[in-house]
Parts: sequence; C-alpha cells; structure tokens
Amino acid sequence: MRENRPVRDESLRSSCFASLDVLQAQYGPELPYAVLAGGFQFRGGKVPFLNRAYGIYRAGAVQRGPAALSINSAFAQKRYQDEGTADGVLYRYQDGPIDNHFNSWLRQAHLLGVPLVYFIGTRPNWYRPEYPAFVEADHPATRSVLISFGEIRGAYDEREPVRIRDEIERRYVLRQVKQRIHQAQFRGAVLPAYRDRCGICSLKETRLLDAAHITADIEERGVPLVSNGLSLCSIHHRAFDHDLVGVDADYRVLVSPRLLEEDDGPMLDLLKGFHTQPLHVPRAAALRPDRERLAERFERFLDRA
Ligand SMILES: [Zn+2]
Repeated sequence: MRENRPVRDESLRSSCFASLDVLQAQYGPELPYAVLAGGFQFRGGKVPFLNRAYGIYRAGAVQRGPAALSINSAFAQKRYQDEGTADGVLYRYQDGPIDNHFNSWLRQAHLLGVPLVYFIGTRPNWYRPEYPAFVEADHPATRSVLISFGEIRGAYDEREPVRIRDEIERRYVLRQVKQRIHQAQFRGAVLPAYRDRCGICSLKETRLLDAAHITADIEERGVPLVSNGLSLCSIHHRAFDHDLVGVDADYRVLVSPRLLEEDDGPMLDLLKGFHTQPLHVPRAAALRPDRERLAERFERFLDRA
C-alpha cells in the first residue's frame, strides 16, 4: 500500500547527489556558494541545495516527504563539531522550539533514515558537501543530532546511497570524512592567506591550488595552522613533496641539483626557472611559514639533493 509508506523523496535526493557529483568533477571537492546558488534540476525546475540562513533545509513544494534534504554549517559558525564522539558528528538543532519546522525536518530525517547532504563550511562562502549523511541518533535533551556518513555505491548509472550498519566500517568512513574536512579547512585557511596564488609561481587558479604541509601535521583535529602550510599549485606541491623543490628558512626557493642538471624542455623550466627566487608569503607575519618548520624540512631537501 503505497500511500501508507512514509515519503522519502528518493528521486529528489538522487538528483541532488548526482548534481553534486557533476559540480565536484567540474570545480573540485569544495564548492563556492556562488556555484551552489544555481541549485539543481529536478523535473523541469530548479531546486536550491541548501538554506544558508537556517542550516536545516527541506526543498519546499517539490518535496513531498517531511525530512530535511540538506543541513549546513557555515565556516564562521561553530555548528560543525568535530568533538564528542567516535560514531559521528554532532549537529545542533535550530534555535527555538524543538518541534519548529526546521527541527522537525531534522528529526524526521532520523525517523525515516533518509540520506541527506551535509554542507560543511571550509572557508567563508565555500562548502564541502558530504553525502550521503544520515541522522543516526536524535538527542532532544541536548538539542542535537548525531550525523553519520555512508557511501554511494554501485555502477555509475545506478549509484545508490548506502547506510553503513557495521560499526567498525562506519567509524572508518567517519575518520576519512574528518580527515577530508580537516584538510579542506586547512586549505581554506592557507589559500586565502596567499590570496589564492601559488607561493612559488603565483598561479591564481583555485582548482589547481593545494595547501601543502611543511611538516607532518600531528594534530589532525583542532584549528588548522596556516604557518605550517604553503599555498602551492599542483606541480609545485608535487615537486615540494618529492624534495625536487625546497624552501629555506629565509623564504628562498631552491631547486634540486638533480633537476637543475637535467635539460628536458619547457615543463622543466617551470620548475628550474624559480631557483633562488623568493617565495611569495602572506602579508601578515603570523600567517607566514614557520621558519623552524621550514628549516627542519629544508634539511630533508638537502639530504635528498
Ligand atoms: Zn606553482
């Protein structure tokens, strides 16, 4: 009896996930709000992905069921809480009565077990969508829900959001999500400090820029440390990781003799041309690369040179 089944809006949710797959292929894993603001196509109309003002979002008239389609936490809000549990991420209710419509959408997502999107702010006006996310537990007493993460599985034309029942597997997926978010927030802190340019070649194209760690980041949780980062384009990041390019404590770029001696066309000049050039660093002293970390890292570069 179809009418007795709770309405889960499965095709709307699938369209939403598929559109995000496409946008991420186009723009990279983090999406600027300007891109998300375009919404996604569903049955001939445009549907917004999220509601930035209220966090908890249900897609109005196109949705028949009562459960949220997405939740979000902007970068400035402290709504994304990495703390507290090995089973998921806590997400707070909207202010106001616990049964106002925002909170009821969130709580219905728990009752129905439907997949949704969690848009996590990684820098102002940028979001990393994590999906499928599920409202694993509802804690009205503390006005929060526990969000867990599943996986999209299946061949490309029959991909389906899957909820993970096995606890060990679920924790594994959660760890991966947390690492992705941490890395995304690190990137979201480092790139703007360099005005979205490569510190070596000044390339300004966020899709080709990474935040490189100077020394291994032991503290994977907590506040990303900009001074342990360098904004580098993909080529210079890879070269830095392989000690083909080094940066000394005086912010000087040095190219490995292994490369300098080679003579193999214009791509290599992209690396060799910056030998002994100054690294472009942030204006604010506190955001500049930590000289001690650079010196430590530079030792390794010299050892391998
Ligand atoms: Zn570069």
